Amino acid sequence: MRSWEGPIETGPVPEDGADFDAIVVGGGPGGSAAAGYLAMKGQRVLLIEKGVWPRDKVCGDAVGGKSLSHVAALGVKPRLEATPHFRVTGIVFSSPKGNSVRVPLPEEDVERLEAGYALPRAQFDHLMFERSTELVLEAGGAVVQGADVRAVLFDDGQGGEDPGAGSGEARTVRAVEVRLGGRQGETYTWHSREVVGAAGYRCPVATALVEETHGEVMVDRMHYCAGYREYWQNVEGCGPDVGDIEIHFVDSIIPGYFWLFPVSEGVVNVGIGMVIGLMDKQKKKLKAMQADVIANHPLFKERFANATMIEGSAKGWQLPFGSPRKKESRQPRRAAGSGIRLVGDAASLVDPFSGEGVGNALVTGEMAARHIVEGLTPEAYMEEMWAMLGPELTNSYRMQKLSRRAWLLNWFVGKASRKPALQEMMTEMIASKEAQENLHSPLFMARTLLF
Ligand SMILES: Cc1cc2nc3c(=O)[nH]c(=O)nc-3n(C[C@H](O)[C@H](O)[C@H](O)COP(=O)(O)OP(=O)(O)OC[C@H]3O[C@@H](n4cnc5c(N)ncnc54)[C@H](O)[C@@H]3O)c2cc1C
Repeated sequence: MRSWEGPIETGPVPEDGADFDAIVVGGGPGGSAAAGYLAMKGQRVLLIEKGVWPRDKVCGDAVGGKSLSHVAALGVKPRLEATPHFRVTGIVFSSPKGNSVRVPLPEEDVERLEAGYALPRAQFDHLMFERSTELVLEAGGAVVQGADVRAVLFDDGQGGEDPGAGSGEARTVRAVEVRLGGRQGETYTWHSREVVGAAGYRCPVATALVEETHGEVMVDRMHYCAGYREYWQNVEGCGPDVGDIEIHFVDSIIPGYFWLFPVSEGVVNVGIGMVIGLMDKQKKKLKAMQADVIANHPLFKERFANATMIEGSAKGWQLPFGSPRKKESRQPRRAAGSGIRLVGDAASLVDPFSGEGVGNALVTGEMAARHIVEGLTPEAYMEEMWAMLGPELTNSYRMQKLSRRAWLLNWFVGKASRKPALQEMMTEMIASKEAQENLHSPLFMARTLLF
């Protein structure tokens, strides 16, 4: 058995009623990062994870350049590089008409091993959680797995479901109520004035803050995406451990896309995603759409002719996008208050064009930890978060909306496949935020696209 396929030893369960400097709910990338950074600053942390390792996580499995500085800072990069992974050197996009363009990732990033990887999340998350566990235990904290956070308790003695919902600000978090060992298991209450909500798109801490405390909307179907993935072997044209990942705008899937992300050892993550509000209108089922593309689409049926799907790998999940909401005063929605800071999917921060969420989970994991240590206000957290991530999330939302038009994709990809200047611009836009600003300049865009 390989190390990431085995259990993780997390030590003794803390006593009922124990107190901590901070509690982190959820041990995915966002929670592992928050707990790891807090522990590195000497905080006594309790990290609580519902699953029990080894565990799977539905994802496209691409870990982009943005993630890697945090993976390195937490001490996980050498371990990751010692395990099998696919090194991404470029992204191939194809249009509904079948034109395609390859956008190389910046060469210097690829050479410095900073461009991006693809590897199964079961493996990536295991490495992250294991490292975070070491850091937390070394700093005198505790880690529990198989532990389901059922309620968030506030100073008024209530759970999240406060009769005065909507009034909000007066309450302060004081504890979480956790069930260990499944439905018949025991309930523990652990205390802290600082709680990080990192439990993904259905995070109970997010629900307690956003819906129950402030009476605001948590799930907006026009900003949530449904995703579906399968693992396949022997897909033709996918490199074994280095090469391109592929994003295809296929006619039958628009508005949405089909991806092929090799994850090493001859395995390819094959998936499909679509905004839920748009899917509702079309009455499409992702699994059936994917099966149809694989079996019948002229670009793919030959590539899958000798391929086999790995049994048990077909799974769906949701992606809470970070696209700006029209009616929210805090973008993309409230992410802090009452001693709570939300990170990653719990704060709805997935890139609305690429579907990447691991990077923003790590970025906000570090940010939440720093804000707790420095005693900054919830408002300061939300402001820094949107100042840092807002411009690119807003840009990606614009691109997502443009990509709903098949004719525009045909035109753009057709043009890009013939124009090296456009390919270079796309490479730069993947690499740098400043280059993304060019998207807003009509003059720059007109010149690059038309001449
Ligand atoms: C189909 C699909 C494809 C995707 N592709 C990509 C991609 O290629 N690249 C990319 O960067 N992102 C991708 N994403 C997005 C990415 O998966 C998420 O953004 C990322 O996992 C967010 O990390 P997180 O730590 O915030 O949440 P999660 O990874 O969801 O982790 C949350 C953790 O909290 C735990 N938890 C849940 N409830 C409780 C509870 N009550 N008590 C305690 N613990 C709890 C869960 O078990 C889990 O371990 C994809 C998502 C989907 C669905």
